[in-house]
Amino acid sequence: MKVAVVGSGPTGFYAAEDLLKKDYAVDMLDRLPCPYGLVRYGVAPDHPKIKSVIAIYEKIADNPRFRFFGNVELGRDVTVDELRERYAAVLLCTGAQSDRRMGIPGEDLPGSHPATEFVAWYNGHPDYRHLSFDLSQERVAVVGVGNVAVDVARILCRTPEELEGTDIADYALEALRSSKVREVWMLGRRGAEQAAFTNPELRELTALEGADLILRPDEIQGSSTDKQIAKRFEILQTAPPPRGLARKLHLRFLVSPVEITGSSRVEGLRLVRNRLTADFQAEPTGEYEDLPVGLVFRSVGYRGVPLAGVPFDARKHVISNVGGRVVDESGAVVPRLYTAGWIKRGPSGVIGTNKPCAKETVDKVVEDALTPPGSQDLTDLLSSRGVRWVTFDDWKALDKLEVARGGGTRPRVKFTALDEMIEALGVRA
Ligand code: NAP
Repeated sequence: MKVAVVGSGPTGFYAAEDLLKKDYAVDMLDRLPCPYGLVRYGVAPDHPKIKSVIAIYEKIADNPRFRFFGNVELGRDVTVDELRERYAAVLLCTGAQSDRRMGIPGEDLPGSHPATEFVAWYNGHPDYRHLSFDLSQERVAVVGVGNVAVDVARILCRTPEELEGTDIADYALEALRSSKVREVWMLGRRGAEQAAFTNPELRELTALEGADLILRPDEIQGSSTDKQIAKRFEILQTAPPPRGLARKLHLRFLVSPVEITGSSRVEGLRLVRNRLTADFQAEPTGEYEDLPVGLVFRSVGYRGVPLAGVPFDARKHVISNVGGRVVDESGAVVPRLYTAGWIKRGPSGVIGTNKPCAKETVDKVVEDALTPPGSQDLTDLLSSRGVRWVTFDDWKALDKLEVARGGGTRPRVKFTALDEMIEALGVRA
């Protein structure tokens, strides 16, 4: 029994692991030539420990019943229905490829960007390598206080020396080397207690080599019986005082942007001060302040996008599903179609959260035990269409090349252009 897993991020690999344990064969498809999704293109370059999870995925891929089909795009090279004809199950693990908006005036001014694009850019994602961010600005706002906001703020505050030893994209390293950013303002709309970041990520902000963390004492008062929240308050309240470092990272709470101001590009951010309601939501007080900034990154969450021919819940931005089984508008199960990860439940949780999520879906695949109507191998279809798919051995060759390009001083220098990757692999014999 063969299953097609679409998407090679953490969820795809956890699903593959489970399926292989249950004696299925797995063909994993990804539209990029390289696997690992957000582990390669989302995890911050200065967080190599988090990336070490790749060793587990490599082991999974070693299984002889596993095949990788990189550079194969759903909708372009193969359709969902063509997969459903060939596999016992098609498991969609495509993640959340877009971003949420704030819905305020000025959001589309030049200089206002989704943080997700900045992240994909500095991580060398082929779709985002051509972007540019005006790092000649001295003051930058990062809206949101989740872990992505923390990543963006931290990368903006890192010294070139700190970034040099990472796998950050070469062009991003160059751009950040000459960055004029001196002040970064991270803005939370609710209180410190409600912030979405986690404690280890917050602690890192208190110990940056090149940036002082600046807090407002009145915004970090509080305590909690919840251990994690109590720890958070302790981290905030015992953060070292400013040391006169070159950059300042201001972390603010209880403020919401109401407008990005500027005539032809971002010149500032109008904020309203909030108070918390009884159910801990942000409520504007009517008190405003203006923050002059030249660059705004909104880091208010990722957002899933629909896949051609797959039922989509446009309100929740996820594939319509019940426990991982894809359902159509009438609520009827679509045979042999399943989903897991962010595109199933929304963009929340850490890498490990996707393991139980994938398991729930794989359990449904096993329970349903459907057989495919046809048995033509995917390779025949792709060959007939002239698709140059990338195998896992191909990827391993690319991986080796990237590491070699690192020259021993950097973990790797990533290929960031698709044609560069395919060219490096050559034409299949
Ligand atoms: P997130 O954790 O959901 O945080 C989103 C933030 O945006 C929250 O602070 C939220 O505030 C705020 N927000 C939403 N709408 C807003 C608006 N209109 N105006 C102002 N603020 C607004 O999302 P994320 O940071 O994108 O992270 C996604 C997931 O990846 C998370 O589970 C995260 O932990 C994970 N991740 C983990 C790591 C790591 O482990 N190091 C790194 C990166 C990402 P409210 O709470 O008020 O809605």
